[in-house]
Order: sequence, then C-alpha cells, then structure tokens
Amino acid sequence: MRASNLYAPTLRNTPAEAEIISHQLMYRAGMIRKVAGGMYTFLPLGWRVIRKIEQIIREEMDAAGGQEVCMPILQPSELWEESGRWAAYGDEMMRIKDRHHRDFCLGPTHEEMITDLVRDEVRSYKQLPLMLYQIQDKFRDERRPRFGLMRSREFIMKDLYSFDKDVDSMNVSYQKMYDAYTNIYNRMGLEFRPVEADNGAIGGGHSHEFTVLADAGESNIAYCTKCDYAASDEKAELAPIEAAAEEALPLEKVATPGTNTIDSLVSFLNVPIEKTIKAVAYQTDTDQLVLVFVRGDHDVNEVKVINQVPGALDLHMAEEEAIKAAGGYPGFMSPIGVKEGTLILVDPTVMNMANAVAGANEADHHYKNVNPKRDFTQESIVVTDLRMVKEGDPCPHCGAKMTMTRGIEAGQVFTLGTKYSQSMGAVFLDEHGKEQPLYMGCYGIGVGRTMAAAIEQNNDEQGIVWPRAIAPYEVVVVAVNAKKDDQLAYAEEVYGECQQAGP
Ligand code: ATP
Ligand code: MG
Repeated sequence: MRASNLYAPTLRNTPAEAEIISHQLMYRAGMIRKVAGGMYTFLPLGWRVIRKIEQIIREEMDAAGGQEVCMPILQPSELWEESGRWAAYGDEMMRIKDRHHRDFCLGPTHEEMITDLVRDEVRSYKQLPLMLYQIQDKFRDERRPRFGLMRSREFIMKDLYSFDKDVDSMNVSYQKMYDAYTNIYNRMGLEFRPVEADNGAIGGGHSHEFTVLADAGESNIAYCTKCDYAASDEKAELAPIEAAAEEALPLEKVATPGTNTIDSLVSFLNVPIEKTIKAVAYQTDTDQLVLVFVRGDHDVNEVKVINQVPGALDLHMAEEEAIKAAGGYPGFMSPIGVKEGTLILVDPTVMNMANAVAGANEADHHYKNVNPKRDFTQESIVVTDLRMVKEGDPCPHCGAKMTMTRGIEAGQVFTLGTKYSQSMGAVFLDEHGKEQPLYMGCYGIGVGRTMAAAIEQNNDEQGIVWPRAIAPYEVVVVAVNAKKDDQLAYAEEVYGECQQAGP
C-alpha cells in the first residue's frame, strides 16, 4: 500500500466524546469513525489490525481443535424461549419483528443457536469432544455504550462452544481453551492475567477472565505479590482474620443517640473500627430479606451475598418495614434479637471478634461486649465469606499480601455444564447406549475490545506503540530524497520485495 493512496483521514484534535486514550488515538489516526452511539466503521488501518488479531485467534482456535463455522446473526425467539432467556435477557437484547410479526433478536451470544445445531446432529459419544467457533458481529444494547470499541452496541466477538461427554472431558476442553487464550495474548505481546471470575448467572463450574492490565480498565483485580493467584475483586476468596484472644465480658446495652453509621459510632464510643460490626440489610428480586454482617472496616461483596440465596439474581436495599418485621432496627442492627428463620449471613472474621460493638435492634442503642460465638444464636445464621477484598489482604493460597490493579476484560472462558443441553434437550448416547446431556463450555474474545486494550497498554506522547504482531504495517519504506532517481528506484525495489514477502 502506498501512503499516498491510503484512506486514513487523520485528525489534529481529539473529538470531545473520546474519553480514553485508545478511543482518542484510533480516531485521530483515522482507524475508526462513529456512526451512532456504540457503532463504529473500521477504516483500512483499523480493519488491518482487527484482521491480524482475528488471524492470531483463528490459528490458536484451530490448533486447539476448534472448527470454524458461521451462524446467522438474526436469531428466532423460539430458541431463546426454550432456554428461558428470551424473558431473562432484558433490555440488552436487540429485538425485531419480521413482516409476519414473528420475534427475532440480533444475537448477543450464540449458546441457544449452537445447541440447536448440535442437538440435531450429535448422536453418539464417538462424535465428541466437539469444538465449534465463529468470529462475527454481536449486538448488545448496552445501557451506556462508551469508550469507543471498549463497550459498543455492535462488536466483533470470537465465540467458541465445546461439547463433551462428561465433566472430566469438559474440564479438558476448558484447559485447552485456557492454554489457547494464554497463547493468543502472549502472541499479541500484551501484559495480561487470567483472573478467576464469578460466573454467577450462567451457573456452576469454572470461569476465568483474560484481563489486559491497563488503568482505563473497568475490572478491579486482586493479585498476589508472591504466587500467581489473581481474581476479580468480586470473586477474590478471603480467609478469616483472627482476633487477639480476650475474655468475653457480659453484654451491655448503651445509648448511642444518632449513631446510625459506623463512622459516627466509632467517634461517639471512641472504639477502634475493627471492634465494630457493620450491618447491611438487603432484599432480593425474589423478595427475600437478607441481613449481612461484616467487620466495621470491611465492605460487603454483593456477588457473594447473591450466591448465598438460591434463585436470586439481584439485590436492593431492604425496606424499613421488612427489617422491622424481622425484629431488626435500621441503622442499629445486629443478629441479637432478630427472629429465628430470618436469613442472617455473617462473615467468618466477625465470628472471631471478641467484645465488639453491634446494634441493639432498638433506636439509638448499641450493645457493647458482643461475642458472636456466644451471642449469635439463631439456627438460620450462615457463616460464610462475604467481604470485598482490599489492598494488603492475605492471599488465600499462600498468605502473602495481595495488591489491586485495574484491567480490561478482553476475553472470558466458562464451563456451562448441562444448563443449555438440559433445557434444550441436547443429548447423546454414551458407551452403554444410555442417553446423556452434553457438557458444554463457552469461550468469548472481544476482538475490538482487545484492540482498544492493546492501545491502552501501549502508547506514548507520540501515539500508539503497536506490539509488532498486530501493527497495521510492519515496514515503512521512505526514499529520503524522492527527487533523486536512484533513491526512488531503490525504494520501489524494496517496496516490491516487501510485497512479495506477504502481508
Ligand atoms: P462485560 O462484563 O464487560 O459487559 P461480558 O462479561 O458481558 O462483558 P461476555 O459475554 O463474556 O462479556 O463476552 C465475551 C467478550 O466479548 C468479553 O470478554 C468482551 O471482550 C467482549 N464484549 C462484551 N461486551 C462487549 C461490548 N459491549 N463491546 C465490546 N466488546 C464486548
Ligand atoms: Mg464476561
């Protein structure tokens, strides 16, 4: 390609809406242009980068045993009704009707369609394992499309789906994909971490997010400074903190007017914050009241809370009436005196506390000398890790200090188990001629998001510093003095040789 012919309209100024550096630099370099919110056209330079990323992904998917297919973007609602996700997917799904008023969506993902494809063809364990993938546009009507390619409404995704005969075999497929992803991000020259992730709504099993480290990232990651443990802040497991041994003193109710926050309580009673117990009351979308207790200086991890309530997908702060009906008092709450049968979740660090301060379930009153092992007596209490990781917490694997960083989720790998095969009846006959559901996994990479992440991680005051493997061009031939015929001829010769050598 001759620079004089290249369609790459550059800009001197940054468009006002481009908040992060990758978006600014892609715009200024003439790689992308906006069509509407969360929709972009790739210009030739940008599209070359996309194709190089796709090619690396394709090679690694093929090497791991994947076979490329191409499914329609437009998907009939009937398939989604079968899995139960037509209603569950919500506003993020772009829905349309055809001329016969039949419902369709523009695929946000393809589990249903691929399960439908495979259930009609796979009959025997001899046809397994099977891995099918595609690289194609996905549509999600994001609440806030932003940061250019990072969170758009139409975006390119590689999605691979694995089908296996049992859990062990599914885990082998998972490991193959995990290794393939590691190769992909290494080949692209990016600094990344496979981070243990919550796979909440999709249900059971393993999940890792492949996270490119960069300050603009939306993911908070906790990682160990010594071993290779890394997890999203929502997922990070935490070991209970021991408290110094103390003799348990008798419970004492004290007046604490107006102290309905931990900070006000700490200054009113002049106690260390580590001696206080924080209460948070939630109601789930299934209308279940959940009272949660963590140490005063800790924060509640709502994902961990949701995971304790079967069937719940969402939480909101509890209504006052619901708290009072259970025997609690908002702002002055502890498990002491709450009705048996109420779901009470207590972080294990709280259970280790001695002579702590907690609410008395009465306006403007707290208890002193709360000893949870002695005083929290309901059978409906569940002691489980509930808190959010913070800088300096001990690693659950080796005990060294953990630190926090930000990253961009560029890809994710999941085991799905039999969630889709069961709801959609995708079965095969095993070695004994018995019908079994297929064990599945799904594995996505955001191609555009990966490009943006590469730029976030690799730029300086001059602009983008491409890792070589994904640079739009690797060689630029310049005749220093184009007026000299011999220089021009030589430049032409080198240009010709480069073209011969391939893209
Ligand atoms: P997020 O949590 O960021 O919304 P997700 O977990 O919903 O993403 P997946 O369903 O795991 O995304 O999709 C696989 C990959 O597709 C993601 O890892 C990401 O790289 C990419 N991706 C998802 N949503 C978008 C989007 N709106 N714009 C660009 N890429 C996206
Ligand atoms: Mg994800």
